[in-house]
Parts: sequence; C-alpha cells; structure tokens
Amino acid sequence: MAVLQNASKTPDGVMLNGFLLSPVVDQCEGCDRIRDFEEEKFCSSYPNPASKWAGGRCNFATHAKIEVAAQAKVNPLKASKRAAKGR
Ligand code: SF4
Repeated sequence: MAVLQNASKTPDGVMLNGFLLSPVVDQCEGCDRIRDFEEEKFCSSYPNPASKWAGGRCNFATHAKIEVAAQAKVNPLKASKRAAKGR
C-alpha cells in the first residue's frame, strides 16, 4: 500500500494541503486511491471519503468502476438491443 505524501499529523487530525482528512470508509476497500498514513487509511483524492459515498457510489472509486464495466459487458439484454439497433 502506498503511503500518503505530504500529509502531516496535527492535534486536530491528519492534514493535507490545508484539509483535515477523514479515514476511508468500508466502501473504499479495494480502491487504488487508498493511502496509508500513521496506521490509518486515507483517500489520495478526497479529504472526506464518507461524503463521496453518501449520495451513492464514489465516482473516483477504481474498484467500483471495474465492477460497472464488467456488468455492462455481460448484460445480454442490452447487448442484443444494441446489436438490433445496428442492423
Ligand atoms: S476514490 Fe473514492 S472509493 Fe477510492 S478511496 Fe477515495 S473516496 Fe474511497
């Protein structure tokens, strides 16, 4: 696991570029953007991962994107509709 760059530990928590960071949430598990820092895991893209998942799937989640792509490929109904359109 890569380490979070340029972060620093402060009395308030872990800071990066002036943002107070919150640790990643359960849904982040498996994402390539997770970084280790001081025995906790943080997101390299967002200071507050929980808010990225509050309204649904995080749009930067590398693991979730892969799932979506795989689902799109094996959806036979959509594939046949697409094929029918092409004719
Ligand atoms: S990009 Fe999204 S899913 Fe990945 S660690 Fe950050 S908040 Fe979590």
